[in-house]
Amino acid sequence: MKTKRTMKNRECHICDAAILKGQQYGQKSVSLGKQCSWSADQRPTDQIPSWAWSDYRVKVDICAGCAA
Ligand SMILES: [Zn+2]
Repeated sequence: MKTKRTMKNRECHICDAAILKGQQYGQKSVSLGKQCSWSADQRPTDQIPSWAWSDYRVKVDICAGCAA
C-alpha cells in the first residue's frame, strides 16, 4: 500500500495504534455494509429491490506497519 506522511494524529483502523503527526500512514476503503438509495416510499427494507442497494464505503487510516 502507498503511504504518505500525516499532518495530524490518527489511529490505525486495524491495530488501533496511534499514528502520530509526521509518521507514514496509508488509507484504504472498507465496506461498512449496504446503504439504500430507495426513497420512493416507506416500504420495509426487506421489500426494497436489490438494485436499490449499494456498498457503503468509507476511507480508514492504516499505520505503516499494517500497510506494509
Ligand atoms: Zn496498524
